[in-house]
Amino acid sequence: MRKMKPTDQENEYITRVFKPTRVALVHIKAGTSSSEPLRFCLIDTCLEKHTTALISWLKKSTGDLATIDTIFLTHCHSDHTGALAAVVSAVKEAGGDPLVIAHSSDAQYITKGELRVPPGLLLPMKPVMGLLAWISRLTSSSIAPVPCTAWDGDRDVLVRRGFDLHVLHTPGHTPGSVTLVLGGAAFVGDCCFNTWWTRGTPPVGNSMDDIRDSWRAILAEGVATIVPSHGRLMPASRLKELLKD
Ligand SMILES: [Zn+2]
Repeated sequence: MRKMKPTDQENEYITRVFKPTRVALVHIKAGTSSSEPLRFCLIDTCLEKHTTALISWLKKSTGDLATIDTIFLTHCHSDHTGALAAVVSAVKEAGGDPLVIAHSSDAQYITKGELRVPPGLLLPMKPVMGLLAWISRLTSSSIAPVPCTAWDGDRDVLVRRGFDLHVLHTPGHTPGSVTLVLGGAAFVGDCCFNTWWTRGTPPVGNSMDDIRDSWRAILAEGVATIVPSHGRLMPASRLKELLKD
């Protein structure tokens, strides 16, 4: 298991964070009922090749896989959903029955196991992603299908399950991308990147205009910290700077 950086523990409800594609475990608000066993919301899975490591990490982090109540996918790309089928199977084997949920625009691809390759947004990625999409079509690439509930836009769907998480529709990287807001932190999926080679703007996606509208929606939540799936955490002020460009 990789060691967490201190910045990944900023929010009291984040149990653990698994990398390289950031996967977070959020536990139910402590103290709501001391007799109730801890339950978890898992935000995203990761690439299929990391399945064994992810499940091992989930077992250690939860103590009991059956306590994973909900798996919310920020979007349908395979580096966020590749291990989903195996995780759901493992949770069910442990006696759990997790709600698997994503925005309706992306849930359909998760349910069908359809691999989606986004277009490039930044110049070097345009030919690369075009080539990958061509190869994907040629080889009919797919991932294991998992029945996925279509999120209907209800921002409090997780609050009613006991989690202090609000859901926002933040399209642009994919039509169905979502952000989960937890106190002062926003789990933005791939709506932002913060890697050494891209300081905010996702290199791939469907619409830069939609991404910028989504950044405005995230800022309107008043969050302080952006938690991207790729790269380090960053202050929300970075989005304000990017919106001036
Ligand atoms: Zn993505």
